[in-house]
Amino acid sequence: MPLVSMRQLLDEAAKGGYGVGAFNVNNMEQIQAIMEAARATKSPVIIQASRGARAYSQDKFLYHLMLAAADLYPEIPVAMHQDHGNSFETCKSAIELGFTSVMMDGSLKADGKTPTDFEENVEVTRRVVEFAHERGVTVEGEIGVLGGIEDGHGAGGTGLEHVTDPDQAVEFAERTGVDALAIAIGTSHGAYKFSKKPDGKVLKMDLLIEIHNRLPRTHLVMHGSSSVPKDLQDVINQYGGHLKPTWGVPVEEIQLGIKNGVRKINVDTDSRLAITGAIRKVFAESPEKFDPRDYLKPAREAMQKVVSERMTEFGQAGHAGDYSPKTIEEMREGYASGALETRPSLAGAH
Ligand SMILES: [Zn+2]
Repeated sequence: MPLVSMRQLLDEAAKGGYGVGAFNVNNMEQIQAIMEAARATKSPVIIQASRGARAYSQDKFLYHLMLAAADLYPEIPVAMHQDHGNSFETCKSAIELGFTSVMMDGSLKADGKTPTDFEENVEVTRRVVEFAHERGVTVEGEIGVLGGIEDGHGAGGTGLEHVTDPDQAVEFAERTGVDALAIAIGTSHGAYKFSKKPDGKVLKMDLLIEIHNRLPRTHLVMHGSSSVPKDLQDVINQYGGHLKPTWGVPVEEIQLGIKNGVRKINVDTDSRLAITGAIRKVFAESPEKFDPRDYLKPAREAMQKVVSERMTEFGQAGHAGDYSPKTIEEMREGYASGALETRPSLAGAH
């Protein structure tokens, strides 16, 4: 099937009460790992590319790999999403290339580092929504600032300095009409999220519940939601790596988030750890090998394993055949008619 709309995947997830993992990719093996995991678990899935990934792959390579994925796995609904678009132009170029969803991260200026003010964020996100919805494409916005660094994005720190204010979230959703909203509730990007074992209250669940209650049609997104499992860290360190002790977001907390309106969960670090550990193991155990397939195949398998686990834990497993994907043209009509309206003041009209 063709690439599908992320909005439809999230609407279906809301109906079914589950979350959908959004896994980052840079190359063919990562796409294959995710698609194999999706097939094995019968999961709809979001595959996302950061600006860094698009630059690394000359984005057209990545896009055509995604078309191959859609072609080879016709039973799997798969959306292609731009992660952390930093400007209107970045989002526009992704849409023109064929992405079915974009994130406009207007919480930071185009440099991906400096926080913007609220009005700036509203204005750039509103413009992207207008452009995207006219073309049937989904938009994710962000309100509040996430900590940590991901492909140069992020303001650093613990992630708790700029948690999302619910009143601002509601005003933002009302003025922009975004389909999905990334909120800062205590997660951060990268491998080093927490320097000690989280106590089971990592997420600001009260904030999440309030925002979800006030914006029931806007899908909530958790960034920086790798769990950074110890066994994956251990493989890397066992075979010559040097990772400092670190903890990610416990899966149980993500599941609690999913119960309270989180529909998209971004995972990148866990895949990176799995790949690096598998490659290090081959290099250490078989130093005579020099065919890239000898280490890329185990790397792909290791990533597939962790992605399959997350698909099962997020609840998306088993849901690939639940619905027939709408075309992007049908989504365009849905936005034009108001049927896909998310703004609290307008959503009741349909
Ligand atoms: Zn992010």
